[in-house]
Amino acid sequence: MNKYNNLFSLKENDTTIKTLFIMMVIAYLFSIAIRMIWVYQFQDQSSFHWNDQIMINTNDGYWYAEGARDILNGYHQKHDLSPVNTAVSIITAFFGKILPISFETLILYMPTFLGSLLVVPLILIARIFKLTHVGFIAALFAGITWSYYNRTMTGYYDSDMLNIVLPTFVLWSIMFNVNKKRNRYLPLVAIFMILYSWWYPQSYSLHLSMVALLFVYTFIFDSKESFNFKIILIMIISMSMISWVLKLSIIGLLFLIFHYKKEIVTKKILFILLLLSIGLLVFTGGIAPIWIKIKGYLLGGSVVANQDGQFYYYGILKTVREAGQIPFETFANRISGHTITFILSTIGYLLFVIRYPLMWLALPMVGLGFLALQGGLRFTVYAVPINALGIAFLIVWVADFIKDRKIAIFFMAFASVLVLVPNIKHIIAYKVPTVFNKNEVAILEDLKKKAGREDYVLSWWDYGYPIRYYSDVKTLIDGGKHAGDVNFPVSFALGVEQVPAVNMARLITEYTEKAYQEKLKDDYLSLMMKDYGFTEPDDFLEALLSDEFKLPKKSRDVYFYLPYKMLSIFPTVLRFKNINLKDGSSKQDPFFYFAPRFQDTKDILHLGSGISMDKKSATLQLGQQKVQVKRFITVGYDQKGKLSKNEQIVNPNSNISIIFMKSYNAFLLLDEKMYNSSYIQLFVFDNYDKKLFEPVIMSPYAKVYKIKK
Ligand code: MG
Repeated sequence: MNKYNNLFSLKENDTTIKTLFIMMVIAYLFSIAIRMIWVYQFQDQSSFHWNDQIMINTNDGYWYAEGARDILNGYHQKHDLSPVNTAVSIITAFFGKILPISFETLILYMPTFLGSLLVVPLILIARIFKLTHVGFIAALFAGITWSYYNRTMTGYYDSDMLNIVLPTFVLWSIMFNVNKKRNRYLPLVAIFMILYSWWYPQSYSLHLSMVALLFVYTFIFDSKESFNFKIILIMIISMSMISWVLKLSIIGLLFLIFHYKKEIVTKKILFILLLLSIGLLVFTGGIAPIWIKIKGYLLGGSVVANQDGQFYYYGILKTVREAGQIPFETFANRISGHTITFILSTIGYLLFVIRYPLMWLALPMVGLGFLALQGGLRFTVYAVPINALGIAFLIVWVADFIKDRKIAIFFMAFASVLVLVPNIKHIIAYKVPTVFNKNEVAILEDLKKKAGREDYVLSWWDYGYPIRYYSDVKTLIDGGKHAGDVNFPVSFALGVEQVPAVNMARLITEYTEKAYQEKLKDDYLSLMMKDYGFTEPDDFLEALLSDEFKLPKKSRDVYFYLPYKMLSIFPTVLRFKNINLKDGSSKQDPFFYFAPRFQDTKDILHLGSGISMDKKSATLQLGQQKVQVKRFITVGYDQKGKLSKNEQIVNPNSNISIIFMKSYNAFLLLDEKMYNSSYIQLFVFDNYDKKLFEPVIMSPYAKVYKIKK
């Protein structure tokens, strides 16, 4: 028992490999077990199941799933945007081939098992300082900490499942090398950095800051040694924009020289090699990614000009929640689970750094996490592992002051549980639904049988990936392709009357394919206008109102996928179309209000947001304004699923109608323009122009129409 004495203090101790392994396994299993809570909560929720398995809960996951499916099938369509070359899809397909489980099961649990791997590099980092037990506490904690859990929970099938694991391995490999200073360990740095850049190309800036920090660290703490420059050399080559085969060859060669021909590697030679590697990095385009990042996050306003500067489109950043600033408490919760834990963990990290300056090298990850205060939620997760090491260090540091060993152990256990509790509470309450429910998937599977793989489905970008995964068709916009210029035509088609909607749907489909095939760089609208000889966008859009508009030759079928879900985001959908393309100013927002919840009293109908209706006079109270409605419509499905509609005209001069959607128990308030829009007419009223549309699937969850032009 004596040899384990130091496990309960900050006295350094060399744990055996066996102890190390046991700690890793316990922390790993703990992290997996906690990720089963969500599964347990929803195992009986049949609407979350498809193919006898719970579905995934992240939209982007369907993209990678599409890629993996296509790799396993061995084919996909040209320009279908299937990510068959992404690391996530390749790894998934690999597991799909070798594991005897269904594809649904595989993608559901990949984050559970890969995300939990974070415990390994954390324990390894602590072991560098001979404080494996600190790593163990940190691993228990980090594996289930708020934001880390959110992004690696069961069903959160995304690149996130290794996005923190891999840089933590990179960090470990660097620290390990700085500590050991032996050539034989150098390949570790290359392996993890190349792996991480393959898995997540955006890893570039983190890698770059790690290089910069190692430079600074070496000058301050380690200047007598030239070994660190070998690490930096390997890092820079690993980051350069050349193929990984070439990278590994160069690094392999250098490694052989370092290892077997030590004598020729003088400081001068090393310096020249460093300069060459920096040249390689810059020359192969190492500066571009940084510039793109800065442009995207800092300069991205609400209006983004398209490539040739001809038109202005609505920017996406404004509607993406994560890019906003966040309050301190949310920030602290996401990094540590609680404000107090966060402050203590930061103090712990500082103590760690004071005692072991090598821990400075973790600063880029902490820094990236702290960027969240400016850059939005998505970054907090990077600070999780390091703050976890911080709090674990603090706990053991305090325990070290306690003379009585039993009390010290008790304190460590108690404090560890205390920091875990807020996170476990969060996890129990975090009941995220699956992206789609069973009925919605059934519609898309049905569509798969009816539509061809080359056909296009027009819908909002939120549904793009799942549509492609379940129906194996092409889409116009999706979770990755949704800039203002590509959203514009889709927003237009959903928000205008049926004739221009169909015209635009045909145009945008043919021009999307044409632009891919001919590698055209201009935005689609500019391309169309050039071909049709228009210079004023408004003139062109007006020409689309005509039934006689001469459309390009039809190359494939086009479907409209109109889900019930879209009602709640319809105003956002329309914002992309309601813009003056010439100067980027917004047009007046249409009036559209969806009330899925309301309160019905004897005289007044309360619809939320200060909107109510006097039932007797059918007068709406919109804030301070009073307006009589134009029509009062009740729509609903009967037992056989047939739509019935009851319409009362109240005041023909008014512009606003109220619709009670009986089967959904929801109200809709909208102006004439919105009332006549293709989405509302086709989805809410099944009122399609028979010359233009053919109903394909009519379900209360979503309606699918094929265009006839
Ligand atoms: Mg396909």
